[in-house]
Amino acid sequence: MPIWNSEIETMPQGKLKEFQLEKLKKTIRYTYDNVKFYRNKLDSMKVKPEDIKTLEDIRKLPFTTKNELRENFPYGLFARPMKDVVRIHASSGTTGKPTVVGYTKNDLELWAECIARLASAGGVTSDDIAQISFGYGLFTGGFGLHYGLEKIGAAIIPVSSGNTERQIKIMQDFGSTVLICTPSYALYMVDVVREMGVDPVKDLKLKFGLFGAEPWSESIRTGIEKGFNITATDNYGLSEIIGPGVSGECLEKNGMHINEDFFFIEVIDPETGEWVKDGEIGELVITPLGKEALPLFRYRTRDLSYIDTSKCACGRTTSRIMKIRGRTDDMLIIRGVNIFPSQIEEVLLKIEGVAPHYQIVVERKNNIDTLEVWVETNENMFSDEMKKLVELEKLIVEKLYGQLGIRVDVKLVEPKTIERSQGKAKRVIDNRKLV
Ligand code: ADP
Ligand code: ZN
Repeated sequence: MPIWNSEIETMPQGKLKEFQLEKLKKTIRYTYDNVKFYRNKLDSMKVKPEDIKTLEDIRKLPFTTKNELRENFPYGLFARPMKDVVRIHASSGTTGKPTVVGYTKNDLELWAECIARLASAGGVTSDDIAQISFGYGLFTGGFGLHYGLEKIGAAIIPVSSGNTERQIKIMQDFGSTVLICTPSYALYMVDVVREMGVDPVKDLKLKFGLFGAEPWSESIRTGIEKGFNITATDNYGLSEIIGPGVSGECLEKNGMHINEDFFFIEVIDPETGEWVKDGEIGELVITPLGKEALPLFRYRTRDLSYIDTSKCACGRTTSRIMKIRGRTDDMLIIRGVNIFPSQIEEVLLKIEGVAPHYQIVVERKNNIDTLEVWVETNENMFSDEMKKLVELEKLIVEKLYGQLGIRVDVKLVEPKTIERSQGKAKRVIDNRKLV
C-alpha cells in the first residue's frame, strides 16, 4: 500500500522531533498572541513563549482541561475571528454545555491531510467506494472522514448512520469497498447482514473498514473482520484536538500511527501530571501543532494508553498510540454518544416519586451497547397503582432522552433494593467485556 505522505510519514524520528519543536514554538507564540485566556494564564505563571526552547520545555506550560473549554463556551478560546472560521463542530452529550470547536480553511485542509494518511494506511485508494456510516452533523466523524477520503479520490457514499437494512442494501447495490463507522455499529451490521441472508463474500465487495470513536477490543475486531470478510483498522481522535485523524493504524494493525507533524503527544501520570517513563501507560495529553482556529496547549484527553516508538513493518517512522485502555473519568460512550453518570443523576433527582438511589447498568446486547437505569421509587409511589408506575417510567425515559439525546431503558425497582455504599457509591455497572 502506498504511503500518502512519505516525506513526513517516513521522516527519521530525530528530524521529526526538530520539525515538531519548530512548529511548537510557532504555535505557542501564535496562541499567546491571539488567545487572551492563554496569555493571562502564561502571564500569571510568569512563563513567556520564548521560554520553550526544547520539546521537554512544554512541561512549563499549563494543561488545558475540558472544563476550561466549557467555561469559555462557545467561542472563547478561538484564536481567529468568525470571518476566518468556516466550520463549527461540537462534542456530543457532555455534561451541561457541549464543547464547541472551530476550523479555518487551513485547519480543514490539515484535517483532510490527517485523514488521507490514516485512510491510505488502512488500505483505501482512489479506486475505492467508501460508505461513510458515521453520523454527519455536529459530530466530527462523518465530515472528518468525508473530506479526507475525498482528498484521496475515493468515491464517497455519504449515507450517515442509522437505518441498518438500508445500509446493507446500499453496500450491496453500490458495491461499497470500504466501510466507515463505529466498531459497535459495524458489529451490529454484521448481524443484520446475516439476518438478511446476505453473503458477505458473494454479495458484498467490502475490503476494508476504518473504525474508531469508541473503545473496542481485539475480539470485536475479529468479529467484524470475519463477519464482513475485511481488514479492520482502528483510528483515534477527539473533537477538541481536531476530530478523527490524530492517529490511525496501518495494515500491520499494531498501534495507531500518530500524525506527529500536527500533534505533539505526552503521556502523563493523571495524578501527578508528570511524564511517565517511555512506553508506560498514562493519560494522553495532546498539543496540536499549527492549528489556527482553536490552538490548545497540552489538552488532557483523559484517555489512557501508551506510545510505541519501535519500527513498524509498514515503513512509517511515526510513533504509535496503542489501543486506548479506558478513560480516567467516568464518561460512558453509548452508541457513540458521551454520557456522564452525573447527567443521569441530574435528571432523576428532579423527578417526583423517585428516590435518590439509582444504578446504571451497561451491557452489550447483540453487539450494541445498551444502558439501563435502575431507579428506586419512594415508598408512597411503590404502593400506588400500576398505572402510575408505568407513567413514571415513561416520564423518566423521556426526560433522560431530552438530556442525553439517546433512548435508554429504565427499570423501576422497589425501595431499598439498590445496594447502599459506605464509601463511594458504585453508580455504574459496566458488563461489557473489553479484553
Ligand atoms: P463525540 O462527538 O463522539 O463526543 P469526542 O471527540 O468527544 O466525540 O470523543 C472523543 C473520545 O472518544 C476520545 O477522547 C476517546 O475517549 C474516544 N475515542 C475516539 N476514538 C477512539 C478509539 N479509536 N479507541 C478508543 N476510544 C476512542
Ligand atoms: Zn505501520
